[in-house]
Amino acid sequence: MKIYDTMVKGKVDFIPLNDNKVGIYLCGPTVYDYGHLGHGRSAIVFDMFRRYLIYKGYDVTFVRNWTDIDDKTIDRANKEGISVKELTERFIQIYKEDYSRLNILEPDYDPKPTEHIPEIIGLIERLFANGHAYNLDDGVYYDISTFPEYGKLSGQSLEELKAGARIEVSDKKKNPGDFALWKFEKPGEPSWDSPWGRGRPGWHIECSAMSVKYLGEEFDVHCGGQDLIFPHHEDEIAQSRGAGYRFANHWMHNGFLNIDNEKMSKSLGNFFTLREIFEKYSPRVVRYFLLSAHYKAPLNYSEESLKQAEGALSRYDDFILRLNDIMEKSGKRKENPKKQVSEIISKTVNSFEEGMDDDLNISKALAAISELVKEINILIDHSSVSYADAESVTDFMKSIDSVLGIFKFDKELLPEEIERLIEERAKARKEKDFKKADEIRAKLLEMGIVLEDTKDGTRWKRIK
Ligand SMILES: [Zn+2]
Repeated sequence: MKIYDTMVKGKVDFIPLNDNKVGIYLCGPTVYDYGHLGHGRSAIVFDMFRRYLIYKGYDVTFVRNWTDIDDKTIDRANKEGISVKELTERFIQIYKEDYSRLNILEPDYDPKPTEHIPEIIGLIERLFANGHAYNLDDGVYYDISTFPEYGKLSGQSLEELKAGARIEVSDKKKNPGDFALWKFEKPGEPSWDSPWGRGRPGWHIECSAMSVKYLGEEFDVHCGGQDLIFPHHEDEIAQSRGAGYRFANHWMHNGFLNIDNEKMSKSLGNFFTLREIFEKYSPRVVRYFLLSAHYKAPLNYSEESLKQAEGALSRYDDFILRLNDIMEKSGKRKENPKKQVSEIISKTVNSFEEGMDDDLNISKALAAISELVKEINILIDHSSVSYADAESVTDFMKSIDSVLGIFKFDKELLPEEIERLIEERAKARKEKDFKKADEIRAKLLEMGIVLEDTKDGTRWKRIK
């Protein structure tokens, strides 16, 4: 398998450091607000990377942190008059729910910096011992001039970085690019004891400290959004290597997400949280949309593109239903799939893997599946798909879905779809469109869902 490594700026062979074991660290969100599409994209593309490695038989350890202490979490907690912990615990729950609706596998470890203060302090002590850290009035800083490789990941020289930096008169830092490892206590901020004075960690140090704890001094892949390359990942490298660790062997970054061809930002008013989008589109459609473009390419969100994703998924759903029907109607018989069907499957497996092995070329991988759907559909049209054929195609779709996580195999409606239909029915009733409301009730009944209108709203239960 080849992956694009941001450090070498090209595709490299992916060879794990320890045989079959792979360690991956993904920078997670700062938990002070609802997750938006950009968070969803980064979480989904690297979830797919992890799932593909598992599909290929690797034993993957996946770490994704929650940043629970920084200016943003402190500001918002103060504004709401609650503790930082209360605030961040609330948003971690919300993220967990959103990620689970997006069918993102839970990480093996999801550490928070506030629970790793001793590890963070230990790392800063190593940086002092190795001559990379110094004290100022407001905190402990990293001296980037002591780390000659600084700038390599983002492709900037130390000189360029100096020329580009804004020099503030009051700045006592040795270099404009020096960054805080430890920030001394300010009123209204949580703080911990340290050998240098009470305070809290700078942002970058957490990922260096927590990755070494859970993945060791050297691990396979560090990933994150493209916006984290500089300064966050550059600073992580300076810290971890400065402390004497080999750190990440490869670096992978996902591209930006634009909204209607503009950068997503709160000030432009084109900012959507995942929850806002889930009101319009099922999380499965959102997942499919977010993984259907190459992870490194910029991805453009528009109503049109989400509609397309919905259409593509419903074609897959129809296909899987057709296979189900064949299996139900023809009854299990002891036989092998036809040679023609086996050949279509093995050809598809090959091109799916060829695509994924080429730095997760998802377009090629999805094109292979579409082609299979087309070819098998033609066979179904000619009634030449047997139980064994349908079963082997379904098994193939299931194995592909262990990587993609987007298909639906049972006929049962998912709870979120039921909820959506209930909302639609409530709206229809409010608008006195009783015909539509009754149709929805009948449709649900047909799917084995019975509705009960109570004074607290509509409840549902399955009857078959
Ligand atoms: Zn990080």
